[in-house]
Amino acid sequence: MSEIDDREVLVENPYHTARFKPVRKGKKPPKLIAVVHQSGCTGCEVCIAGCPVDSIELVPGPDANNPQFRQTVEIDIARCIGCQNCSQDCPWETITMYEHNDAFIAWGNETLKSDLYITQDALTKMNEENGISLEPANTEDSEATESAE
Ligand code: SF4
Ligand code: SF4
Repeated sequence: MSEIDDREVLVENPYHTARFKPVRKGKKPPKLIAVVHQSGCTGCEVCIAGCPVDSIELVPGPDANNPQFRQTVEIDIARCIGCQNCSQDCPWETITMYEHNDAFIAWGNETLKSDLYITQDALTKMNEENGISLEPANTEDSEATESAE
C-alpha cells in the first residue's frame, strides 16, 4: 500500500491479488480506459459489481484496523477493457473514460493511493518481509562450494 508521490518511481506490486487474475486478451489496448478520481470516491463499491473483467480493486483506508473506513477503489488500467460500465454506474460520477495514452497521465493526477502500483522502497520492504533478497549471490561462497566438489 502506498501514498502516491509524483517524485517517486512506481513499480507494479507483484504481491497484489490482481496479478493472479486473467490478463486482458487481444494485442491492441482498448480505445478508452477508466480512471477513478479518488478524491471524489466514497468507496461505495457500486462500480465493482458491473465490471465484466473484475478490474476494479478496493484500496483500503488509512486505518489497518478498520480498512473499510475511507476506502476507495482503483482500476487496473492494464486489465480494463474500456466498456464504460463503471463510469456510467458510479453514483458520484468520479470515474472518467480517457483515451489510452491520456489515461496514464490522468491516473497520475487522480490517484491518491494505490495498492496496484507501489514505490520501489515499498517493494523492497515487502520483498524483505517475504524473505526475498535481490542482492547478488555471494560469489566467494559459491566458488568455495565449487572447489570443494
Ligand atoms: S471501463 Fe469496464 S472494464 Fe474498465 S474498469 Fe470500468 S467496468 Fe471495468
Ligand atoms: S461507484 Fe464511484 S464512488 Fe463508488 S466505489 Fe466506485 S468509483 Fe468510488
